[in-house]
Amino acid sequence: MATTLQSSRIPADLDPGAGQLLALIRSHGALTRAQMNAMTGWARMTVTSRLEQLLAVKLLLPDEPTAGARGRPATRFRIAPQRAALMVADVGALGMRLARCDLTSVVEETADLRCQISDGPQAVLAQAEEGLRNLAGDPASRPVWGVGISLPGPVEFQAGRVVSPPIMTGWHGVSVRDIVTEWFGSPVLVDNDVNAMAVGERAVSYPDAGDLLVVKVGTGVGAGLICGGRVVRGAAGAAGDIGHTWADPSGIRSDVPECRCGKRGCVEAYVGGWAIARDLGREIGSERSVDDVTELLRAGDSTTVRLVRDAGRILGASLATAVSLLNPSAVVLGGQIAAASGEHLLAGLRERIYARSLPLATRDLPIKVSTLWPNAGVHGLARGIADTVLGAPAG
Ligand SMILES: [Zn+2]
Repeated sequence: MATTLQSSRIPADLDPGAGQLLALIRSHGALTRAQMNAMTGWARMTVTSRLEQLLAVKLLLPDEPTAGARGRPATRFRIAPQRAALMVADVGALGMRLARCDLTSVVEETADLRCQISDGPQAVLAQAEEGLRNLAGDPASRPVWGVGISLPGPVEFQAGRVVSPPIMTGWHGVSVRDIVTEWFGSPVLVDNDVNAMAVGERAVSYPDAGDLLVVKVGTGVGAGLICGGRVVRGAAGAAGDIGHTWADPSGIRSDVPECRCGKRGCVEAYVGGWAIARDLGREIGSERSVDDVTELLRAGDSTTVRLVRDAGRILGASLATAVSLLNPSAVVLGGQIAAASGEHLLAGLRERIYARSLPLATRDLPIKVSTLWPNAGVHGLARGIADTVLGAPAG
């Protein structure tokens, strides 16, 4: 092969057959030559030549020998995790979590930066680029093979472009993929923040769940849907935008507040961190931020707790519909407000979901705060970009 070891494009330059072998090892872990033969049905010479290609570019390592009963134990081959780095940036409305990951999606190091998504793509992406370059280290000693980035708005997944984001001033139509590709000259995955969370939750916490409903309650509100093991993105990448659906606050509130998207009465206009901060500010007569809400929740402030419980009920009414439609194996809550609220948000949420969904859909339905938060999105992006760069695991 003409590929040099310094190239940052090695997986893209592999022969399709070597790519298939890589996919097999990604899904099954370390394999011996005999196992590769048996699993692929390829001739021994074919296995050898494809294996040698992967060894030549140092994508595989010979593993510890298997302890055989007799004779010389067979060598097993596994992915070389340190061969290259995968960089990810999970960007929220007020902050981003950056990470360097290995080729098996293990998170090696993270960094948190404050940002304002409303500052626009130029400022926010420049911050992300600088942070990722610092984390990546010297590309001559370890190349970057891919970048995954998530954003808190609708993303046209195939094109890697932001579409009509309600809160992201200046981002509409921006091809984030084109900009990010320039950073390391590597493939780029662009996704919505809650979709990335959903992929991370499934991969790490719910590997056996084919159907999962992941909800982020941070500054805004959004949902990520996993159906049959795959993320549901919808025709235009807008699936899961539960924050801007019509809320049912009956029995809790009678006002119909204005939403950031320009409509009135959206779920987010009652439940989003910004909406809770607005309501809290009105009650106490001075302005409050989303960070203030988080802090007061952690301190157990009674007014904030009451507002969050009510928010949980309003969100629960909407999620009850989603639970009946999708029949998920679990409902997982993430985001700054969900993480800070402990049982308060969950209490209202459970009350409405159990009361309003069909018993068959809620029987044995766990409704929990994410144990992965704030790393769910980072894990999801690390999986997604590994699949993009190395090819999806086989079978
Ligand atoms: Zn709205």
